[in-house]
Amino acid sequence: MFKKISHILGLVFFAVFVFVILKDTNLNTFIDAVENRTFDLRQNIMINAGLKQPDKNIVIIAVDEASYEYILDNYGEWPLPRDVYAKMIDYLELQNPKIIAFDLMFVKSMKSKNHADEALIKAIAKSKNVYVSMNFDNQPEDLRTPPNLPEKLTVNVKNNSPKVDYSDSLTFTNCRAILQGILNSTANIGIINVSRADDGVLRKMPVFAKYKDEYYPQLAFKIGMDYLNNNKKDFVINKNSILKTGSQNIFLDQDGSAVLNWYGPAQTYTYIPMYKLIKAVNGQPTDLKYDFGGKIIYFGTTAASLYDIKTVPSGKLYPGVEVQATYVNNMIDNNFIQRTGRAITVTVSLLLAAAIWIAVMKLESAFTGSLVSLSIYFVYLLSAYYAMRFGNLWAEVIYPLLFSILAFTCAFIVKYLIKSRDFERQYKLATTDGLTDLYNHRYFQEQMKMQVEQSKRYENSFSLIILDIDFFKKFNDTFGHQAGDSVLRQVAFTLKRNVRATDIVCRYGGEEMSIILPNTGEEVALSTAQKICERIAGKPFKFNGDKESHVTVSLGVATYPQDGETASGIIEAADQRLYKAKHSGKNQVGQD
Ligand code: GH3
Ligand code: MG
Ligand code: MG
Repeated sequence: MFKKISHILGLVFFAVFVFVILKDTNLNTFIDAVENRTFDLRQNIMINAGLKQPDKNIVIIAVDEASYEYILDNYGEWPLPRDVYAKMIDYLELQNPKIIAFDLMFVKSMKSKNHADEALIKAIAKSKNVYVSMNFDNQPEDLRTPPNLPEKLTVNVKNNSPKVDYSDSLTFTNCRAILQGILNSTANIGIINVSRADDGVLRKMPVFAKYKDEYYPQLAFKIGMDYLNNNKKDFVINKNSILKTGSQNIFLDQDGSAVLNWYGPAQTYTYIPMYKLIKAVNGQPTDLKYDFGGKIIYFGTTAASLYDIKTVPSGKLYPGVEVQATYVNNMIDNNFIQRTGRAITVTVSLLLAAAIWIAVMKLESAFTGSLVSLSIYFVYLLSAYYAMRFGNLWAEVIYPLLFSILAFTCAFIVKYLIKSRDFERQYKLATTDGLTDLYNHRYFQEQMKMQVEQSKRYENSFSLIILDIDFFKKFNDTFGHQAGDSVLRQVAFTLKRNVRATDIVCRYGGEEMSIILPNTGEEVALSTAQKICERIAGKPFKFNGDKESHVTVSLGVATYPQDGETASGIIEAADQRLYKAKHSGKNQVGQD
């Protein structure tokens, strides 16, 4: 019964805590932040072990610090005049690259000369494989008028997921218009909006964003689709938040973003400083020897002074262009991360908690219980790592950890509640007598020794009363053993009623009982003994239902230190006086 109640109480305690963990919004934000760090850690372990190599067909033409300086020196300004991009496109096209993408926005600008814009527009219009970016924002309408975008840039998205909600963070009201000529001449335009976690780390990227009730694809998504020769324009997000694009599965979180798988180590993609390409285009000497045939070429800024730097899980600062490249790489390799849903996480957490609960309960030693519990969680942690390594699965580990710790703690409390109750029972069993409920002979002997030690140390006295029921054999013979037992119990009860709470009443053996009176001198002990003698003699004892009889007792008293300085000495002295009482007619306290 007690066991059952303890278990139920423990489980209720556990359930209440679980409820709090799941319902407390602030706590959830905190847990998510820690969970995110574990994602970074898992990614880094794999990256540092060289387990995730990027696609060698992606090359980045970077406006790095050197190129930025070169551009300022040779063109007097940043941004680079747009006809130079036109020349680079024409130069690269000669080598038949698969894709040329710009992680750069060609917006309407006072600075840009018309003829330069025209040259770029012409170069883009000429080729089918040049991609450019645009970006949505929420600038007020009195600052700039939201432009209308051509319908060819939109995709159709049917969102059947109850979780994915674009209106939360990926619906925008404004955008900077890119050159009308570009909008007119190509549909190869995608957005480059990002979504960051609370800690500022960029782990995921939107697949679509909503602008004026239309969906627009991420540039990298568009490039990935085209690279895979998938010209789908209708997309369905299924009820499990998965976007299937032919053979690709993209797992979306609640704001419609995909968690990226990161590659490394360091210098993930082939970087070519843009100044080398410009020199080559202009026929100047340069060491640029790279075969762009069949490659995906990404233009972007990497110079810190151009402010397009993002913190990513691989522990590095990535320029935005490398995030885009990683996204395309994820598309090509179909290795987007799938994060387990909350329902699965909670189920797994409860299973772990149950396993740990059972381990703690079933295993006798606390050490083994702890070790096994720790191992259970560790095995899970390891599985979570391998799930990401081999299955691109992000199994959450922090909720399971909290549940495990909670189960471990609750189980231990319950176990020790039960144990301490068992111990109490055993202790009682070991120290008391079953018939009279008095302390037993062994306990009496221990207490005597302790009293001697204590009295010696504090230099005070203690006394012992030994008593024996008179003519008890006869009583048994007359009324039977059952009646004798009943009287024994009643005598024991009378003793307890007539001594102090600190006095220790024991069954010495048979019908003999003893009382240890700590901190008590001879005088008080003798009067106590006398009182007991009278109380018992004056009280009729009931037995066998309605029968009654009087019994008497004989008592012997001894006091430490005057009657003996050891436990056995004092017992001996008390025994002697009991003997004397018997010989002087019983029903009295023995005198020397
Ligand atoms: P005295 O006045 O000299 O003490 O005589 P007595 O008969 O009490 O002494 P004795 O030691 O000869 O007998 C003790 C009796 O106590 C023997 C036994 O029948 C009885 N007795 C001892 N333990 C128990 C018990 O647990 N239950 C019952 N019913 N009787 C017990
Ligand atoms: Mg007796
Ligand atoms: Mg006796």
